[in-house]
Amino acid sequence: MTTRSMTLSRPAPLTASPLALETRSVPSPGEGELLLRVAACGVCRTDLQICEGDIEARTLPIVPGHQIVGHLEAIGPGADGWKVGQRAGIGWLASTCGACAFCLGGRENLCPQARFTGWDRDGGYATHAVVRGDFAFHLPDGFDDLAVAPLLCGGIIGYRSLKRSGIRPGGVLGLYGFGASALLTIQVALHWGCRVFVSTRSASERARALALGAAWAGGYDEAPPAPLDASITFAPSGDVVVSALRATARGGTVAINAIHLDRIPSFSYDLLWLERNLVSVANYTRDDAREFLALAAEIPVRTATDVFPLEEANEALARLKRGEINGAAVLRSGEL
Ligand SMILES: [Zn+2]
Ligand SMILES: [Zn+2]
Repeated sequence: MTTRSMTLSRPAPLTASPLALETRSVPSPGEGELLLRVAACGVCRTDLQICEGDIEARTLPIVPGHQIVGHLEAIGPGADGWKVGQRAGIGWLASTCGACAFCLGGRENLCPQARFTGWDRDGGYATHAVVRGDFAFHLPDGFDDLAVAPLLCGGIIGYRSLKRSGIRPGGVLGLYGFGASALLTIQVALHWGCRVFVSTRSASERARALALGAAWAGGYDEAPPAPLDASITFAPSGDVVVSALRATARGGTVAINAIHLDRIPSFSYDLLWLERNLVSVANYTRDDAREFLALAAEIPVRTATDVFPLEEANEALARLKRGEINGAAVLRSGEL
């Protein structure tokens, strides 16, 4: 039996279609691993940055994709708690060492030995994927395969960003950038009774934010109508971080939800003074993921998806880059 994948051999601009279709024999799951028949895989900005080389590839060739929804075809020795045929999801965190101070202290997202799906080991732009059973998740029944895939990166990391921002129920929250992750994050914030102001360059994203319940939407340099208790930046731009800091109340926090930022420009210390906090958000812990998936089912969180066949992964990434995706891009590997 063979598996098809869209494989990155050498990072290149998307105009050169860096992903190529590859066929090989289906791998067997090793110790503690699961073999998934991939049904859907979300397309993330991080995939785009790996394919174009903005984030350096850790190993090549690599199959990108870290929002994988699949059904178990085979279970390796010692992968407890799973049965063939069950649905499973896996996100960015592929494995951690389990023994360092970060892992033992509830901060496995910072494990120096952490390995990542679609960066260190092959991901979900494929018909099959082998993942660690202890890093895979049971997925809530209320979501179909295509709908749940985008929750596995943007949703979980957006949820961790909310926690890192320190926003409390009923607080005033700013969101800077309004792509797939912000679309999910706002639904959690509104569920918590927050007032949400959205800043983004795109007029269509501003309209979408208002339709989803934002109290205000404007451009990056417009001042929101009230000081922010906390804000989260999603755009890979340091200028946007400074805009967010400028709008944040004394004692408030700006959480940067970006694995890659062009730079941090210099800015007046007055913007940080009075106990404002500037924090980054790195990866997630499995507890974050489980908490978010349960909350997403309870709310319930909704995402619009733009679905592409696996073979059109280059096109999906190109549309993401051009800002032409309306909710979240998802690759479909299986039959509908
Ligand atoms: Zn991602
Ligand atoms: Zn560790």
